Amino acid sequence: MAKRRTAKRRAPLEVWKFGGASLADATAVRHAVSLVRAHRGPLVVVVSALAGVTDALLEGARRAVAGRPEAASAVAASFRRRHRELALALVPRGPARRALLASADAQAREYEEIAHAMAALADLSPRASDTLVARGERAASAVVASALQAAGRRAARVDAAGFVATDGRHGSAAPDLKATRTHARRALRPLLARGITPVVPGFIGSAPDGTVTTLGRGGSDLTATLVARALGAARVVLWKDVAGILTADPRAVPDARLLPQLDQREAAEVAYFGAKVLHPRALIPLDATRIVLHVRSFAHPERPGTEVSTRSTLASYPVKALATVRGQALVTVAGKGLMGVPGMAARTFAAIHAEGLSVSTIFQSSSESSIGFTLPAVEAARASAALEAAFRDELAAGLVDGVNARAGVAVIAVVGRGMAGTPGVAARVFSALAAGRVNVIAIAQGSSELNISFVVEEGQARDAARRVHAAFQLSKIGGGRPPGRSTDVVLLGFGRVARALAAMAGRTGDGRIRIVAALDRSGYVFDPRGLSRGRLLRLAAGKDRGALLAGLGGRSASAHAALHEIAAHAVSRPVLVDLTAEETGDLLLDAVAQGFDLVLANKKPLAGSAAAYQRLLSAAASASRRVRYEATVGAGLPVIDTFRKLVESGDRVLRVEGCVSGTLGYVLSALEAGATFSGAVREAVTRGYAEPDPRDDLSGADALRKGLILARLLGYSGMAPRAKSLVPKPLAGLPLARFLERLPEHDDAWRRRVATEAARGRVLRYVVVATPRGVRAGLKAVPRGSPIGALSGTRNLLSFTTRRYRTEPLVVAGPGAGPEVTAAGILNDIQSLASE
Ligand code: ADP
Ligand code: ASP
Ligand code: MG
Repeated sequence: MAKRRTAKRRAPLEVWKFGGASLADATAVRHAVSLVRAHRGPLVVVVSALAGVTDALLEGARRAVAGRPEAASAVAASFRRRHRELALALVPRGPARRALLASADAQAREYEEIAHAMAALADLSPRASDTLVARGERAASAVVASALQAAGRRAARVDAAGFVATDGRHGSAAPDLKATRTHARRALRPLLARGITPVVPGFIGSAPDGTVTTLGRGGSDLTATLVARALGAARVVLWKDVAGILTADPRAVPDARLLPQLDQREAAEVAYFGAKVLHPRALIPLDATRIVLHVRSFAHPERPGTEVSTRSTLASYPVKALATVRGQALVTVAGKGLMGVPGMAARTFAAIHAEGLSVSTIFQSSSESSIGFTLPAVEAARASAALEAAFRDELAAGLVDGVNARAGVAVIAVVGRGMAGTPGVAARVFSALAAGRVNVIAIAQGSSELNISFVVEEGQARDAARRVHAAFQLSKIGGGRPPGRSTDVVLLGFGRVARALAAMAGRTGDGRIRIVAALDRSGYVFDPRGLSRGRLLRLAAGKDRGALLAGLGGRSASAHAALHEIAAHAVSRPVLVDLTAEETGDLLLDAVAQGFDLVLANKKPLAGSAAAYQRLLSAAASASRRVRYEATVGAGLPVIDTFRKLVESGDRVLRVEGCVSGTLGYVLSALEAGATFSGAVREAVTRGYAEPDPRDDLSGADALRKGLILARLLGYSGMAPRAKSLVPKPLAGLPLARFLERLPEHDDAWRRRVATEAARGRVLRYVVVATPRGVRAGLKAVPRGSPIGALSGTRNLLSFTTRRYRTEPLVVAGPGAGPEVTAAGILNDIQSLASE
């Protein structure tokens, strides 16, 4: 007995925070619950709002105030639905579930009412906004507390507004450490003493006037460290959907590596400079404590993540991490009058402070005749006005030339404790930038010597970060490649090919490739841990019934918005697979900029204008992204693969020629077997070989696109000619039904043509020829015994004439259409990206 009590007293307290992505849906909450249950010893759980909820609540309120109150109603409805769904999934029937459902209803209703009231006032004060948004965390904590209880862990929800004391700056309140400590101890210790796990909503607190405040976006990290400090915890764990703190934002620097350990002050700098992984002020409460903070992967709890502590490791790396703050403006006050005049800097920053603004970094021009600082671009106008007022006299007297604000810049901070003792760090940073022709607009060296920061045009920020990352060899840091280096696949378009792909990706048994999201025109489904095969198959069944993803448990969003949302979740080695038949060029450019590699089955983005083709490939090259498109030509046949292997082995491909249309192949070989033209076309449609309107195939346009893709591969940069169409001219413009009705009028002509060729031992084939100088596609009579003449049905064949295979071309042949073989081609591309 006595022994047990000491053991109990000794078990150190931990504070765990679950981020929004860790609470995305019922599966995620179950996983969080199982982690908590497996933990022995006292624990406080801090939770964020469910993934996407904070954004939605803010957006709904903003739109309501902008005159669209129905937007707030829609947000309220989806808020209610998501929380109800969790309650039904996680809590058994009974009073606890009923209470949870009732509170989700009440919170949603209240949100709607307040938003509508504010819409009437046409004003969204930060204070009202905090009241609205606080319910995200409050509702999530209620769900988690009940789910824990349902799973047999003693837990109780404790509202953070009852003990996190802050100042009155709504929207970005600063905590009062001392008051919070007293209140938190009173609120939480009695529960802990009874073996109960308090579940606390993160992000919120209360102002001196008793109104609810929020701690700024990402603020639940700060709640966790505040609670840890208040209770003297041994450890804080932040469960996130990233592997830990990486050397740089993985979306900007694909080579970013997991940092096994970081010094508290280094982590504070990284957070302060905008690495979204930690709230900028999250480390302040840990200052001068020995509390260790761990950032760990929710998806891979067995991995160690990043330790933030007061140890010093990685001594051979003077620089350990980079952080980028985007959306900034550089404001400068310039003038000869500034030189040597004491107090100018003080007056500058006093004016900014009086305006309630805070600067992120202070810069100095080399001439010393200006003072500059950065702050969020949206605040630049206010800052300029404040400075112009403050220096009115100097401006009039010509001592100050002017106040200038330059928006569209980013600040990059280069962080590492070892910088102080290592000469030449700044030189290395700036020579790496100069080598890449990155234009540095301003430079600052932090007084702590823990960081060097510089300002660049926003468009050059990624490039700058990559260059500095490479200059300090941060990709060699010990923590290894981030998130287990899985390759996360996002499917654009969700139809038959996607279904085949889902089945195959499941079968490879290769855990490295996961399908994490699917998009269609209605919206998307996304799970950063991968969508299970069962879930994908259920989605496919739903689509067969005519439903869209947004209605199948997904969210509605435009494809652009969906990609941004997905990319924001640190998807590991993301690959976007385009399975549509649309003009997706702009979306693909966006995807590349968001860090996606591309795999295309869609021909259109590669077979449009030469300029559009070049734009896509060069955007990919300059973002170091890779593009694969084996499935665009010959589905699963290794056509492009063969081309590459020939080139790699030093051969030169002179010409690629063959039959690449399954539909046309089917129709033409049926004619030889005695079918009529109209009959063969109808049959191709019934069997699903042709497009719904067979003229899309008969026109040769699709075959020509494939030819153009091949010609471009061979170096052709000209325009696409027109394909020679097999659609009889008079029938081209008719409605589909009329077209099919009148097609038999042309059967005789076709029969004669086939017979004439047959008498000469030849057959008709639709042949595409690609060379470095051009492409053509049209009907051709070839000897029956030739490889092309011997093709039958929907089979494809391509022959490569190269320097080495000049007299006898190299031939690739096989089934060239159908969902399974197309999926195989795509999977091959994905695997090749994954293994590089
Ligand atoms: P939480 O679920 O706790 O709210 P966040 O989404 O706030 O987690 O934090 C993870 C995000 O931070 C990821 O989207 C990741 O891309 C981004 N990020 C930016 N810089 C870094 C970095 N240096 N290390 C890890 N993640 C980073
Ligand atoms: N839910 C809040 C946000 O999205 C706080 C947090 O997640 O930490 O900013
Ligand atoms: Mg966060």
